[in-house]
Formats: sequence, structure tokens, C-alpha cells
Amino acid sequence: MDRSRLYRRFRTLLIANRGEIACRVIRTARAMGLRTVAVHSEADRDAMHVALADEAVLLGPARARDSYLNIPHVIEAARETGAEAIHPGYGFLSENAEFAQACLDAGLVFVGPTAEMMNAMGSKSGSKELMEKAGVPLVPGYHGAAQDEATLASAAKRIGFPVLVKASAGGGGRGMRVVNSPAELSAAIVSAKREAKAAFGDDRMLIEKYVQNPRHIEVQIIGDSHGNLLSLWERECTLQRRHQKVVEEAPSPTLNATQRESVCAAARKAAAAVNYVGAGTIEFVSDGKDVFFIEMNTRLQVEHPVTELITGVDLVEWQLRVAFGEKLPLNQDEIKLNGHAIEARVYAENPQKNFMPSVGRIKTWRTPEGGDGLRIDAGYRSGDNVSPHYDAMLAKVIAWAPTREVALEKLNRGLEETDVRGIVTNIPFLSALVTHPAVVANAVDTGFIERELKSLTAERGSASAFELCAAVAAILNEEQKAARKEAHSPWQTFGWMPVGQRQRVFSFRQGQGAEQKVTLRYGNGPSTVSVGDRESVLALAPAADGGFDLTLDGTKSHVVAVIEGHELYLRTRNGRFDLHWVDPFGGETEEQVGEDKIVAPLPGTVVALLAEEGATLEKGAAILTLEVMKMEQTLRAPFAGVLTKLKCKVGDIVGEGVELAEIEPEEA
Ligand code: ADP
Repeated sequence: MDRSRLYRRFRTLLIANRGEIACRVIRTARAMGLRTVAVHSEADRDAMHVALADEAVLLGPARARDSYLNIPHVIEAARETGAEAIHPGYGFLSENAEFAQACLDAGLVFVGPTAEMMNAMGSKSGSKELMEKAGVPLVPGYHGAAQDEATLASAAKRIGFPVLVKASAGGGGRGMRVVNSPAELSAAIVSAKREAKAAFGDDRMLIEKYVQNPRHIEVQIIGDSHGNLLSLWERECTLQRRHQKVVEEAPSPTLNATQRESVCAAARKAAAAVNYVGAGTIEFVSDGKDVFFIEMNTRLQVEHPVTELITGVDLVEWQLRVAFGEKLPLNQDEIKLNGHAIEARVYAENPQKNFMPSVGRIKTWRTPEGGDGLRIDAGYRSGDNVSPHYDAMLAKVIAWAPTREVALEKLNRGLEETDVRGIVTNIPFLSALVTHPAVVANAVDTGFIERELKSLTAERGSASAFELCAAVAAILNEEQKAARKEAHSPWQTFGWMPVGQRQRVFSFRQGQGAEQKVTLRYGNGPSTVSVGDRESVLALAPAADGGFDLTLDGTKSHVVAVIEGHELYLRTRNGRFDLHWVDPFGGETEEQVGEDKIVAPLPGTVVALLAEEGATLEKGAAILTLEVMKMEQTLRAPFAGVLTKLKCKVGDIVGEGVELAEIEPEEA
């Protein structure tokens, strides 16, 4: 086939995907001067990838089958918008040979390999046959055409137990069974076949030696249409749950330099066997010493950023250059390996409830700033909806450092500073994982997460007095921020009002625990907080990352906090804590303004006046509504009487303790 028909320069790129990968591809395409077209389902009208692209086309209803997987609709979207090329991302249509062919037939450049290459590598049996011929090391096994029970049983016996029975068409760990003894074999084959038939419409099986304490190692490769093929080092993705990757890193901490060279050479050999064009990954399973080919993925992988961080190569840029018909810009010996990178996948799921997906609206989406070795690839923002129709991966947090140890620490910091509210995420689980001593020591195999599930999903420790004080500081910090935003606000800061000593009492609850009180005293002189009978001098200074430095009795400590209504999320030196703020308006002052005056209990904005001057009010009648930190608080008459004066109007920003209205008691 004439390759100039397949790969040529284009100006407009359609991204046939959603979420973080669509956003990530759009960014690079933009940087390369391309016009970008997003496609979306009805559920994704307001999604981030739609907002990022220059144009967006609705494909159809929420169900992937009716939208992102609908080949004619995707091709039509390209036609409509004048897109000349399609990047499939990963998942969805990315490994669909029929789609690659449909693009070609429609005169579009498919950013990826040809349909033939996909077909050659798509089946595990077929690709193993190819690899065997090319001299790539395979797991000892059987991948022949004969599927009768006797053939499979004698193959298993020859290979030696334990064996792995695997669907040839498999993916996502489905249709796979570990078999420990001959007696279990036939039942395992029957059930794996049933699962494979249902999932892939193909029940052909292959049998492999089950590698003990397996590790997953894979090599990034990329080929151009001029016959150049490079490997970009390896990644280790041994931390898996149910054969699905959770944390990935590059380079592998398990291989030495010789093993590294040999696995990369094997991968190049594998890709060369199909004259591969585009980005791809050759996957191997390893017993820690030797590596054995298991399969090839003919697309960009979720975990590609770790490779980018150690090589300095933008893989999407290279994919697009290859699609332009250009030569790869570097030679093999110019691909340098620098430092160590680790990625963690942030999912909308609840590890405490068997990783059940969590759907709904994201109220807060806060991630640390990228840069300085930290990279966040996200597909969601505050206010976005997590739909039950798609994969629950929200983002990837990726860290780079000169050493693995520092990269792990940086990754954990990145995770801890990531706060997502409104839905449940696996972030605390990821933190527990990347700080686990066995992970730090790289003493893991693919079964590690399953074995350690209990400790990795354990409830976190209970908040100490330190966290309670930090919670008060977080509230004060938030109030000060709000006050600063309103430069004309009469209210300054919590601690320096020349009006004598004041006090506020805060109550918090953690989980189902008892209420715990913290008393803040402030005014002239240093501010203090006390929990029980212990009183500490408190100072606080906002930090650049949106958190603050809390100084208690002279010791400074960095705190990250998010306040969402009554819920407080804190990250202190002791870890993560979720606290419920009981009755946020329960603050008391010692110097109460006269009872007949209605005062602002906290700084806020007047959003509604609910009674008129001169009105006769029952005890408890609503007078006005104040919005305090996104919550509405209605101030009511403390006793029956006449509203003699309203001292504010809608829109006023008022400080704590400011008089808002006067009420005269009813004559007895
Ligand atoms: P899928 O395509 O369903 O993801 P793979 O063949 O890629 O299936 O295997 C998924 C995971 O299963 C691998 O990452 C590895 O952890 C494990 N695995 C695969 N083959 C073997 C084997 N022969 N021995 C031990 N573990 C294996």
C-alpha cells in the first residue's frame, strides 16, 4: 500500500475520545498548531474535552455504543467539520481494525497503525505465533488451533502446573483462569470459554505457564512510515487489581541494565515483525529474572506519561508527526533515560465498598499546580458530572524525580494535595499504596493489592487536638480569604480587632464519633485555641498553594484544607482527615452586642431581606438571609417585637459582629 496515502500532513484533527486522554491529545495538537475537533455524547455536552476543543460534534446518546463507539457517526463528524485525521486515544475504537479501515476509506488519516497491523497483533494466539517466529521469548505454552479437551489437557500437562488458561481474544483480564492442578482444568476451561464467548464472541483458549509472583513489564515502541522503529525504555505496571493496572512507573525498578537492554531489544524485534507504524506497547510478564511476551497493544497507553517524563519525548507529538508522514526525530541512541517517573490512576470509586464506582457531580476539583516534576492529566473540573456510562478514571497524577524514592514521595504529596469532593475517589487508597513499605521496597507482584486490600483500605486514624485546631484555622483562613477578596469589606482579620477579648466555639465530628469542641479566643493580644484544658497560641499565614501555615505554640506546620459547606477536608502532617463542622453558626462572643440588635454571626453577604422596617414579628420570624461561605443562614427575631431598623441592603458585604437590624421587644 502506498504509505503517502495513509500518512500525510493535516491541519484539523478529530479526537475520537473523551476524558483525560482527549484533553491530553487536544493540548499537544493545539501546541502543534492544529485545529481540534472534539466529539461527545449527550451526557458529555459540558465535558472538559468539549470545552477545550475548537469545535465539538454531538455523536449520540450517552451509551458508548450509540456515541463514542459509533463508527459511522464519528466519520460523519470528521466530514462535517473538515477534520482530515482522527486520533482514537485509548479504549473505545483505538484498537478496532474496522475503524482504522473506515477512516482510510473515508480519506482520513488514522493516527495509529493500519488495520492489517492491528489484525496481526490483535489476537493473543496469532501474535504469539508471530513472536515465536521472530524469536521473541514467550511464556511456555500452547497457542495452537486445536481446541478439543484432550489437546488442551495434554498441553497443560506438558507445560506443567500451575497454568493460566486465557481467552485468545481477551482483554481487561476477562476469560482468564489460574489452574493449579489437572483436576481443576476442565472446569476452568468451561467457565473461561463461557466468559470469553460472552465478552468477545470468541471462545478460543490458549494455555500458558503461570509465572509465579508475576511482574508486569512493558516496552514503549514507536515506528514511522519510513521503516524506523524505536523503543522508549520500559514501564513496570505490577501494581494491579484484578489484572488492571493501578500504579505504573518507568523505568522498571526490577530490571538491571542488561535485562533492560534485552527486553527493549525483544520489543523492537516484536514490533519489527509486523513493520509496525505508530505508538505501541509490547507487554511482558516477568518472574523477576526473565521476561516473556504476552501481548501487544497497538495504541497509546494510559500510562504513557511516565515514559514521557523519563525521555522528554511528547508521545502524542510523535504520533502526530508519524501520521504526517515524517521521520522520527531521534535515533535509538538519542533516546535517553533520565530519572524515575510514577503514575497513579485516580478513579471515581469507593475502595471501602469493593471499589464500587461513584457517580454524580464533582463539587470540588482541586489538584496541586503541575511543574517541578509533578504532572496532572485530568479530564474533569469542578462542576463536571461523572457519568455511569464510562470508565471511572478521572485523572492521573504523575511524578518525576531523579530517584524512585523521591518520585514516590512526590507522587504521594501530589495525591494528598488533590481533593475531589461530591463523589468518592480512590485517592486515600492510592496514598496508602504508594507509601506502603513493600511498594517503596519494590517487594511486590501482581497479587500484592489483593493480598493487602485490608490494610490499604483501612479507615484512617482519628483526628487529634492538632487536627481540631487545624480545622479552626482552616475556617479562619477561609474567612480571611473571603474578606480579602472584598477589599471594601469593613471586616479585616479574625484576630486583631481592638475590641477586647472575644471567643468562638467550634464543634466538629469525625465519622460517627462524638462531638469535639475547640474554643478560639482572640482580640487584643495573641489568639489562642483550646481543646479540653490545653490552650495554644495560634497564628496562621496563607500559603501559595491555597493552604496555609499553621503555627501552634511556635511550631509551624503546613495544612491543606477544603471546606465544602459543613464538611472539612484536611491534610495535616498526620495524614488526611474528614471532619463535619457541627453548627457553623454556633460561634459565641463574650462581648455580645445588645440583645435587641441583630448582628452578623460570621462575615458574609446579605442575600435577602425577609421583613420590612416597622413590621411586627413573631419570635423566630425570619429577618434576613446572609450567605456565609456558600451557605445561607437566615437570621431570626430572638423574641417577638417590632423591626425598628434595617441597617443593611441586599448585596452588602458585612463583617462579623456588624449590626444588621434592630428589634424592639413587644410591650408585655
Ligand atoms: P488482558 O489482555 O486481559 O489484559 P494480559 O494477557 O495482558 O490480559 O494479562 C493481564 C495481566 O495478567 C498481566 O499484566 C499479568 O499481570 C497477568 N498475566 C498474564 N499472563 C500471565 C502469566 N502467564 N503468568 C502470570 N501472570 C500473567
